[in-house]
Amino acid sequence: MYIGIDIGGTHIRVAKGKGGKILGKSDFPTKTFRENKKDILQAITKLSGKDLKAVGVSAPGPIGYKDSKIIEPNKFTGWTNIDLAKELKESLNLPVVVAHDASVAALGEYTYGEQKNRDPFLYITVSTGIGVGFIQEGKLLHGLYYPHAGHTYVGGKGLEDWCGQESDLEAIVSGWALEARTGKHPRDVEGTDMWTEAMDILSKGICNFILSYSPSVVVIGGGMTKHRDIFFEPVISGVKKYLKLFPVPPISPASLDEPGLVGAVELARQAHEKEI
Ligand SMILES: [Zn+2]
Repeated sequence: MYIGIDIGGTHIRVAKGKGGKILGKSDFPTKTFRENKKDILQAITKLSGKDLKAVGVSAPGPIGYKDSKIIEPNKFTGWTNIDLAKELKESLNLPVVVAHDASVAALGEYTYGEQKNRDPFLYITVSTGIGVGFIQEGKLLHGLYYPHAGHTYVGGKGLEDWCGQESDLEAIVSGWALEARTGKHPRDVEGTDMWTEAMDILSKGICNFILSYSPSVVVIGGGMTKHRDIFFEPVISGVKKYLKLFPVPPISPASLDEPGLVGAVELARQAHEKEI
């Protein structure tokens, strides 16, 4: 049995799964790591019984690839500089792998989504924030702190993002930015001039990602992509307009309901395979 954990800003979800399916899960509010550690361990014991082989964790970034330390996560209290893998390994005595949330979701879609095994694979989440994960030859690109291309500088002036930048993609077109700029939920901004402008800027950002990573496919998920016609039509036509150097790769919607949890379970499976 493999366990996947998704550490979100408001909730932590712990799930058991196999072959891309979630077979059971537990969910509780995010507090400090010290308070949540026992909730996490209890949920793991309850879900897995005695057959647990490894644990995979999707965590907020930036996060160190080598030490799995979360560095100043946005809106999290009591999680800074926690070495998650080490902390959980000490209690469980099993392989524990931690990776950045957008990269883990990328792994979920790459392994089990409609566009599975298309390599190199670029995944973008457009939700409250904007995240990017990239897979080449089946392996996640991790760098020192995992890719954070949602914070790419695009010019213009939004509100100051949590990273300190007011002119990055996330500060201008993410869900929180649209909400902060209009006072409305992003779904109520759909179809307005501001939405059209946001999709245009986003397509420039995606164009830059394609030039940086050179993927064979771009899969986009997250809350802002739910109304597919309103999202994908302007984004794809924008990329076709701005991308000059490369042929435009296929741009497809994500297909899993919970790519982050499925990806975290897959991370655990890969950690176990590596051990045996
Ligand atoms: Zn930023």
